[in-house]
Amino acid sequence: MKAVLSIGTNLGDRLRNIDDAVNSLERVPKLRVLEVSPIYETEPWGYAEQDNFFNCAVTVETELSPSALLGACLGIEAALGRVRKIKFGPRIIDIDILLYEGFASDTEELTVPHKFIFERDFVLVPLHDLFPSGTALGFDFSEAYKKTDLTKLKMIKS
Ligand code: AMP
Repeated sequence: MKAVLSIGTNLGDRLRNIDDAVNSLERVPKLRVLEVSPIYETEPWGYAEQDNFFNCAVTVETELSPSALLGACLGIEAALGRVRKIKFGPRIIDIDILLYEGFASDTEELTVPHKFIFERDFVLVPLHDLFPSGTALGFDFSEAYKKTDLTKLKMIKS
């Protein structure tokens, strides 16, 4: 099955954190990274008193179930967070499941499609880079994408 993940970081060496996360995903058994979107610098969402984020989206092919994939993402977050915990604090990387082919869930543990897809330009813009048609794994985000404000995102790495 294909799935789309969102990666974000706003602490420490942000490019390196994203690289580390993608490399870690590549090492997960039964998971293959198919494509990584450009990386964008974006203003913090929700809580403004913090550094800008770097965000990207990643398409993967996996035999893992949605909950096993979530477990892998949380495991990578913990592993990368732990490395830098002493210097930078506990949360340097966030890996969310945006979409999982043929699957929907609305529990606290796992909400897919991710509940903030339509509200976050830093999700919609990289998603559109991966799926320029405006439909990703059967999920139509084209109307939401039309409302994004591209001036708020700066491409850091294509
Ligand atoms: P956060 O650190 O704010 O991303 O929240 C992590 C928690 O959100 C995890 O414990 C997950 O169980 C839960 N969660 C619910 N839906 C998702 C999703 N689509 N992707 C990642 N985490 C999710």
